Amino acid sequence: MHRFFIPRPYAETMEIDGVDARHIYTVLKMKPGEKVQIVSDDGVTALAEIAETAPGRTVVRCLEVIAESHEPAVKITLAQGLVKGEKMDFIIQKAVELGVSRIVPLAMEHSVVRYDGVKAAKKCERWQKIAESAAKQSKRDIIPAVAEVTTITKLMESCECATKIIAYECEDKQGLKEALRANKEAESILVIIGPEGGISEAELNAARTGGAVPVSLGRRILRAETAGLTALAAILYEFDELGG
Ligand code: SAH
Repeated sequence: MHRFFIPRPYAETMEIDGVDARHIYTVLKMKPGEKVQIVSDDGVTALAEIAETAPGRTVVRCLEVIAESHEPAVKITLAQGLVKGEKMDFIIQKAVELGVSRIVPLAMEHSVVRYDGVKAAKKCERWQKIAESAAKQSKRDIIPAVAEVTTITKLMESCECATKIIAYECEDKQGLKEALRANKEAESILVIIGPEGGISEAELNAARTGGAVPVSLGRRILRAETAGLTALAAILYEFDELGG
């Protein structure tokens, strides 16, 4: 069943507009009486019936609130060093499918790509759209936010996650599993992943100063896009969120 995020609080009758309304009318060609799922911006998921459709406006009548949540109990923020072109799109799409809560793109010393103000804003807009369609597709109850491009120092100043982890390719003492088992009750976890060129010593120190624990993801060096998704899957597994 198609799922639509409506940027308004829950009400019995709700209106879908913009791109989604055009999609319902023009592409899906849905008719009154057909069912959809809606998620309001105060987090209510409901089964709804289409009451009216027009090219830019769909009115739905909510039939029943769906209590079941699709969200992991542990809230994971993935801070990802900027990687080239479509790789970032891929990471965002897959991280949202897996259950990430928030994505923070990081401009890092060894990032091959650099985005200035305007380009960074455009990229964020694109990534947010990717997050939205992945959230719809994987039946998320939220659209994970893609933050503005920032630096590791700024991230460490503002991040409120209780547990912070940095996947560091040169770490040979502490593994991810150990770090997670020491934080079994964590409600929110930040995971920092470097770009293709890896994490610099200054960045590692900034992360450490901000309370992040360096962890290994095993004896093989993973590409940046593999590392983030592997870490996410492993955390979710450890917290019984992957079919547990
Ligand atoms: N160019 C670097 C590797 C960068 S891999 C080199 O050749 O050494 C990109 C990022 O993925 C790393 O910065 C790190 O955050 C993560 N990563 C990849 N493999 C890892 C591993 N085995 N342990 C921990 N982190 C890893």
